[in-house]
Amino acid sequence: MSRTEQIASGLTAVRERIAAACAAAGREPGDVHLVVVTKTYPSSDVAILAELGVSDVGENRHPEAERKRAELGADGGGLTWHFVGGLQTNKADAVARYADVVHSVDRLRLVRALGKGAAKADRVIDALVQVNLEGRDEASGGRAGADPAEVEQIAAAIEGEPGLRLRGTMAVAPLGEDAAKAFERLRECAAALAEVHPQATIVSAGMSGDLEAAIAAGATHVRIGRAVLGERPPLR
Ligand SMILES: *Cc1c(COP(=O)(O)O)cnc(C)c1O
Repeated sequence: MSRTEQIASGLTAVRERIAAACAAAGREPGDVHLVVVTKTYPSSDVAILAELGVSDVGENRHPEAERKRAELGADGGGLTWHFVGGLQTNKADAVARYADVVHSVDRLRLVRALGKGAAKADRVIDALVQVNLEGRDEASGGRAGADPAEVEQIAAAIEGEPGLRLRGTMAVAPLGEDAAKAFERLRECAAALAEVHPQATIVSAGMSGDLEAAIAAGATHVRIGRAVLGERPPLR
């Protein structure tokens, strides 16, 4: 089987899972967007995805993301590039030059750095507030995502940046907890945000292992890597 055939079959399987999950949740399959997460896979895979009609890809690290986008051509292969990983403030400027959507905005300093970078690059970037879904009793060291209580403050700061457009929320299900329960907390958080900011309609949740639970809880964007592209080598 060629790499194109492998990826096509992965895509078909994932699209079927999305359709089944939408049917089970009484939702339209067109309401859920697929972002294929291409981290660690070569840019030749990204080119194949584009050929197969994928419109959105996600990366989690700078400079890997920048390099691969450039390898697809000056226009990034015509794809929408999502930055889904933890983002250091000192890399925000660089990421603002090429990312179309940043899913991992989780603190005020990052809002300001991204906003500044976008303005400097004369771009407008879609921003999602990443929400931490771990219980309050979890150790807080190094965890990604804003506490649900901080989401509104971060959202308001995003709205104050001309280079950023507030579009919604994002979360990763905590390890070792029932994803369905965690995603229900995201649903509440997203609903509260959308009441204040009606344009914040994106709910980015669901990966290869838990896309069904995410769709049941209202995800509008699922971020899928392995189920489309195959197992990746372990991350360093
Ligand atoms: C890697 C990654 C994904 C995709 O994970 P898979 O298990 O490969 O589907 C989704 N979201 C984020 C933030 C990631 O880092």
